[in-house]
Amino acid sequence: KTTLGLVGGGQLGRMFVHEAQALGFKVAVLEPEAASPAAQAADLHIQAAYDDAQGLQQLAQYCSTFTTEFENVPAASLAKLAETGFVAPSAACVSIAQDRIEEKAFFTRCAPQTGILPAPHAILRSEADLAQVSDDLFPGILKTARMGYDGKGQVRVKNIDELRLAFAQLKGVVCVLEKMLPLAYEISVLVARGADGQAVVYPIAENVHRDGILFTTTVPSPHVSAEAALKTQNAALKLIADINYVGVLCIEFFVLQDGSVVVNEMAPRPHNSGHYTIDACVTSQFAQQVRAMAGLPLGDVRQHSPCVMLNILGDIWFDGEREIQPAWDKVLALPSAHLHLYGKAEARRARKMGHITFIAPSLEQAQAEMQQACQILGIAL
Ligand code: ATP
Ligand code: MG
Ligand code: MG
Repeated sequence: KTTLGLVGGGQLGRMFVHEAQALGFKVAVLEPEAASPAAQAADLHIQAAYDDAQGLQQLAQYCSTFTTEFENVPAASLAKLAETGFVAPSAACVSIAQDRIEEKAFFTRCAPQTGILPAPHAILRSEADLAQVSDDLFPGILKTARMGYDGKGQVRVKNIDELRLAFAQLKGVVCVLEKMLPLAYEISVLVARGADGQAVVYPIAENVHRDGILFTTTVPSPHVSAEAALKTQNAALKLIADINYVGVLCIEFFVLQDGSVVVNEMAPRPHNSGHYTIDACVTSQFAQQVRAMAGLPLGDVRQHSPCVMLNILGDIWFDGEREIQPAWDKVLALPSAHLHLYGKAEARRARKMGHITFIAPSLEQAQAEMQQACQILGIAL
């Protein structure tokens, strides 16, 4: 079957669909929302919930190879699809990334090989666990173990009293309390692996977050040392091989003020910080996802231009209460700007609507044009 099956309909799915189509495949998307970015681009849209038995069955009628673009697709749905075809990444791999407790246990188990640990943390399943929390973890960040993204489901707590209050407000949701670390900067490492075990690792991406949401990605990273780059890239390759992962995986790391490296979390799919690969690398992360699932050779990860990726959030559609149209014509007049809009029906604050990649002969020029675009669009720098 030359139709690839995708569970999830967001922008990551849309970019996957575009790359799959460019490589000669058709894509069938399982997604409950009609107007979702990937459903609009897909060759076939099966409109049903991710755990809908009939929807899954229909997807399996058209496809024998499946992937996902959304890390919170029920692992049971992926397991179901695996009964009839090849699922990459597997339900087992995705389920590790769906739960911060399992994810941190995985990173800790692999630490003897990678040399990199997660942040000091405590697992909070019930109120009784609060008594065991060490003072060492304050100030800390309380994170729900499951379903959090873009900083949602996170509360910063200065002491045990604030923790008690925040945990009580979550009403029995299993959480992780992480020590707040003195970050120097944040990086991510994108890796891809085929079913034959062949793996490739992209250059280090340096990420700036605002209010818990990715703001910019800069590649090459202006700060990372050659040593830290090698260490995190090797760690990513070890981690992806350890769980026999097939597909694209992104691992986020913190570099602390003392130069040490901590592993934060991983996403079992292409990642926002890897969008730059579409315009700046020989093979994009989405093309890599297609190749890995379809059993094709992985592509060259070489970056051919320095770049900065700027996320476009729905906020710039609003001028006070008034809805406006961003001045794309002025942005596109910048020579290095590649605009990607996701076709979302409605702009909302803090909603990812698109991104712009600035590709220039020098990183300085890419950065300068990114700043010009921010001025044009009314994005504070
Ligand atoms: P994503 O959208 O990346 O999946 P998320 O909601 O899963 O986000 P995290 O990546 O865990 O959340 O945290 C979001 C951001 O908050 C991080 O990129 C970092 O800037 C900050 N942060 C998280 N944990 C810590 C920590 N232990 N110490 C300091 N800063 C942290
Ligand atoms: Mg996350
Ligand atoms: Mg994160």
